[in-house]
Amino acid sequence: MWSTPRLGPLTVGQALPGGRVTALGCAPGRARVEVALGDRAIVEFDLAAAPARPGPFAALPALSYRRSAASFAAVRAVGDALAAALAPAWPGVTAVAWPDVIDGLGDDVDATVRLADLLPAEALARRACVAPWTRLEYGARGQRGPCCADFQVAPADEVGAPLALWHGPAMRGFRRALASPDPGATCRATCPRLVGRTDTLAAMVARGGPAAFRANQIATIAAILDGAERPATTPLEVVFPATSFCNYDCLMCSHGATGTLADERPPAFYAALAAIAPGLGRLEALGGEPLASPVFRAVLGGDAFAAAPQVEFALTTNGSYLTPDELARYRRVRLGHVTVSLNAATAATYQAVNRGLAWARVRPNLDALLAAHRAARNPRAITYSMVILRANLHEIEAFAALAEADDVAVRYMLPMQDRNRQSILTDAATMDAAQAALAAVAARLRARGRAHEAARADGERAVLASRRARGLLRALPD
Ligand code: SF4
Repeated sequence: MWSTPRLGPLTVGQALPGGRVTALGCAPGRARVEVALGDRAIVEFDLAAAPARPGPFAALPALSYRRSAASFAAVRAVGDALAAALAPAWPGVTAVAWPDVIDGLGDDVDATVRLADLLPAEALARRACVAPWTRLEYGARGQRGPCCADFQVAPADEVGAPLALWHGPAMRGFRRALASPDPGATCRATCPRLVGRTDTLAAMVARGGPAAFRANQIATIAAILDGAERPATTPLEVVFPATSFCNYDCLMCSHGATGTLADERPPAFYAALAAIAPGLGRLEALGGEPLASPVFRAVLGGDAFAAAPQVEFALTTNGSYLTPDELARYRRVRLGHVTVSLNAATAATYQAVNRGLAWARVRPNLDALLAAHRAARNPRAITYSMVILRANLHEIEAFAALAEADDVAVRYMLPMQDRNRQSILTDAATMDAAQAALAAVAARLRARGRAHEAARADGERAVLASRRARGLLRALPD
């Protein structure tokens, strides 16, 4: 059931005899009305198209109320008024079109609705991946597309302003492919989002915010359903590396050795993004280490996106710059998802894999981040990430346990290339060990109700299984 500011003749805040409407909700065939009585006691009224038994309000037997401390005498006047108001409109008031539900989220940037609750199964399954309609990603080596270049068949290196790229040949090609029965023209069969079906309409969540943002989400969903190649939309999400520089030298990543601050994104880049901010939901900064960029840190500490309160900043970071003082300095931006590349469950493996600050220096930063997100009641907006290597293979399950203990999400990735001979994909035994550990992790995640994380783990496992079945013993990408 989703919240709505209006239900037939009722609106939130409306006065009734003996009370005032404080919240409204509806779903197909059902509705809920929350009323504050004169003494401020809250009473919830339910409407059901097929109630188990008739309610006590003669004008509308579909209306019942949940017992509370309030007496029936106190509830009766409100219930009779609700029944009289809703009877002429019932049950038509619950037949709300999905665009109206999203628009009805209003300005509240914390209000959400899952598309899985709005669209029929056939529509939810219509695209194997929705990234070409939702995301614009700037690759580390100049590639432009909807996702990580490692998953793309032929990453393009177009240049231009964000909207020129959004409507450019590369993004149109992805949309064409994903609107067809076979996305193989643009998408590798090893893409875990494709294999795991993790980026579909069923996984999308619409959010409240300013009217332009709600309208862009509605237009985006319509474009996905239509398979539109040239949608009249702007990106909901932009992903970019703030710099290739990194202060760590992780075994599997070349940024520590070859990255440079010389390619740091300049202020003009963020000004161009601010221009599309009205329709934007999320900016995700990658690296290198994004927080190594002074320009990016200034953006986080400034107010360039103050007029777009719905824009969340997401980070993939090693966490070393995210000290409690820096975290406090970023209080004016909406810090959304933070993915921390830990790659290890113990201090010794952390040092061996990441080759940067000691675990004892990073753990206080994690604790400050956890405290900040818990204060915002959003601990699951933190993800601990592990690239599975030979050096940390034995800690796959312990890593999930660490995330569980901290009540954050967990993510695994397969390594690209065979840097420092760390790829597990060149050896049957390491692939089998990773598959077994990922299966255990996915089962545990499912048992805990973390289906999306489990699906992502299964996506990586399916890539391993497919390569084993085909006898492929070589590093990714193909
Ligand atoms: S299926 Fe994979 S490669 Fe294709 S657009 Fe989606 S994320 Fe990118």
